[in-house]
Parts: sequence; structure tokens; C-alpha cells
Amino acid sequence: MTKITMTRPIVEMDGDEMARVLWGRIKEELLLPFVDLRTAYYDLGLPNRDATSDAVTREAARAVTEHKVGVKCATITPNLRRLEEYRLKKLWPSPNATIRAFLDGTVFREPIMVRCVKPAVRSWAKPIVIARHAYGDVYGGLEYRVEEAGKAELVFTTAAGREVFRQAVHTFEGPGVLQAAHNKDGSIGAFARACFSYALETRRDLWFAAKDTISACYDRCFRDIFERVFEAEYAPPFKDAGLTYRYALIDDAAARAVRSEGGFVWACKNYDGDVLSDLVSAAFGSLAMMTSVLVSPEGYFEYEAAHGTVSRHYYRYLRGEETSTNPTAMIFAWTSALRKRGELDHTPELSRFADVLEGAVIKNIEAGAMTGDLFRLREGVFPDFPCPLSAEAFIGAVREETARAY
Ligand code: NAP
Ligand code: MG
Repeated sequence: MTKITMTRPIVEMDGDEMARVLWGRIKEELLLPFVDLRTAYYDLGLPNRDATSDAVTREAARAVTEHKVGVKCATITPNLRRLEEYRLKKLWPSPNATIRAFLDGTVFREPIMVRCVKPAVRSWAKPIVIARHAYGDVYGGLEYRVEEAGKAELVFTTAAGREVFRQAVHTFEGPGVLQAAHNKDGSIGAFARACFSYALETRRDLWFAAKDTISACYDRCFRDIFERVFEAEYAPPFKDAGLTYRYALIDDAAARAVRSEGGFVWACKNYDGDVLSDLVSAAFGSLAMMTSVLVSPEGYFEYEAAHGTVSRHYYRYLRGEETSTNPTAMIFAWTSALRKRGELDHTPELSRFADVLEGAVIKNIEAGAMTGDLFRLREGVFPDFPCPLSAEAFIGAVREETARAY
């Protein structure tokens, strides 16, 4: 069998723990036998981040801007326990945060649906994609604990030193709390463009929801920018594609989403996206069936699974026990990167291989070959598969089906 050749590499970011173990298996069993894989490899595993004082993370992010397509394995964001466990020089920042800040991108989270696992919401027949604006609001906020009576004011002074706004927020008679948040037109506009582009590319309607009735300046600004960007840049292509953009109040959108059949992209402000992405992924089934892509305004794409390094399974693996970790979202991160590479380089064989591999995963799961997380949720009768498969057995079955279908 001749292998598919690649004209340009994919930036490959290796990671930690169980995810790293499966990463190696996926390459070995599902990619290298079929594709003459070209990658620019960066080891973002915690030991190497520590050894390079995290320079490797910044180099990897830079490489994504060069090659335009990256794929990332889950990595440990160190905390005090990890500091000891890995004897780290210091608490390195989250690689995802570093990469996101470098690429100034928007994260889209999309569930992979299979027939034998029903979403918690019965009407959801198609995926709901959550797009989270990863900038500002309470995340870039300033807070103050008020301990005594006093007055809080909001003041704005121009760069030239002229005070143009001063207004009382509240006059406190006793203890309380204060919070200030900000956002930037540029960041909101880039977010809006990323959402419109992604919706167009994946042929889905776009919703944006906020609370502009209450937040008549802050949320209103988001609403206006979305509308302006849509009218100026996206209205004709949306019309041609038969797609719609709609704004709704966030509470109304939440109720409509539950009654909908899914199949849309939901653009969320930072906090809403934080909450809804976890809620929607849990409602669709397993975290191991959720993919994630970071899209930058310049057209760089970084794909990954939404789940973490699956530490609990890793400790079992280290003790020599068999684990039933689900590699599906990681496989889809690779196939999405290969498909994008194929698209950008005009190598349709690569995109076709991505379709075949994804098809092999879905076909196995729907036939009953699945790992423990899905086994617990499955509906239907599967006499050939009375128990969950190990990660190895699952990958082996996918390899067989890929070789057959390819
Ligand atoms: P996690 O790795 O996502 O795992 C949480 C639990 O979800 C697992 O214990 C497992 O449940 C289930 N699960 C997740 N992925 C699964 C899979 N592929 N197959 C089967 N079950 C799966 O989250 P965590 O344990 O909170 O975090 C572990 C490490 O990952 C942390 O160091 C964190 O910093 C890092 N993290 C990285 C990323 C990233 O790089 N994008 C994202 C999140 C977390 P059961 O144990 O019940 O089977
Ligand atoms: Mg969250």
C-alpha cells in the first residue's frame, strides 16, 4: 500500500500522562501505517516545559503561525501538588492559555455524536457548537472587598489626562463587594468574525446571546459589533448559504436551545461560554467525545480534545492495570488537522483519509465496540460486545476497519 504524502507539516504538540500514552498509540497504529506523516514536533510534556523554562510552549505557538495547522495533546497545568510530583522549577502557566494569548483565537467546542449514545436533551439531533470569547469580562476584572461605609465611583481619564466620566457606582453603608470589568471593540470584533467564519465554514446558523436589556452599554456594545460585522461582511455569504444569524437574550436563548434540534453555533461571552461549554458537553454524553479547535483571526487552526490528561487512568496504567480510556476526541483532533492540511495544500487524499478514519471510529462505536465511558451510556443491544474495550483493543478495531475501508 502506498502512503499518502504531505506537502507541508502539521505542528504536533505532545502532552502528558494518559493522553500522551494514547497519543503515541494513535500515531503508531492509525496514522503512520497510512500517511507519510510530516510534523513539526514540540514536546509540551511537563518535564520538557520545565527543562526549557516553558520556551517550548512559545516556540510551538510560533510554529503554528508558520505552518497554520497544529494539533495538541492534553497537558498538565501545574498546581502545588504537581510542583512536588514533578519537582518543578516553578508553576508554569497553562500551555493552552499561552497559546491562546499568542494566537488571539476563539475556541469552538463541538461534540461528536453517535447513534447509540443519546444526548440528555431528547430533541438534540445535531451538535451544538459553543464558541467562547476568551477575553475580558470578569476574567480580566478588578475586584475589591469593601469593609466599611464609603463611596465607589467609576472614573475614566483619557490618555491625554482629561477626566471625561465620573459616576457613583454605589454608596456603601457597610461592608460589601465591588467588581469592574472591561472589554475591547477590537477583541469583540475579532470574536464576531471568528464566529461568523466558523459558522459559514461548517454550514451552521449562528446565535449570539447576551443581556443587553439590563446591560444597556456593555452587552449592547457586543450586540452592536456583532450586527455591524454581520451586515458589513457576512450577510451576503450567509444568505447564499441559506444560513441565518440571530441575536437573542441569553435566558431566551437558553430556553430555545433546549427545545431546538441543535445544529447551530452559539457565540457566548466569556463567562457564559465557560459555563455552557461544560453543560453542553456533559449533556451530549462523554467529555471524551468533545473536540475543540482554536481559530485565530489570521486563519491559524489548532485542534485538540476537550478533555485533560486523564490522570486517574494514568495512575492505573502505571500500576500495570488495563485502562479503558476513550481516544475518540484525540483521533478527531488529528483527523481535523489532517483535513485542514489537505484543504490548505490542495491534497484531497489527506482529507479523504480523515473521513475514512473518522468513519471507522463511528462505525465501531455504533456496532458496540466502545470504551467504558460510552459503555455506561449506551442504548441498544450489542451481543458481540458484552463488556467495554480497553483503549488498545478499541484502537486495534479502528485500525482494522480503516485498513478495510481505505
Ligand atoms: P480530565 O483529564 O478531563 O479527566 C476527568 C475525568 O473525566 C476522568 O477521570 C475520566 O473519568 C473522564 N475522562 C476524561 N477524558 C476521558 C477519556 N478520554 N476517556 C475516558 N474518560 C475520560 O480532567 P482532570 O482529571 O480534571 O485533569 C487532569 C489533568 O489534565 C490536569 O492536570 C489538568 O491540568 C489537565 N487538563 C488539561 C487540559 C488541556 O490540555 N486541554 C484540559 C483539561 C485539563 P473517570 O475517572 O470517572 O473514568
Ligand atoms: Mg469551565
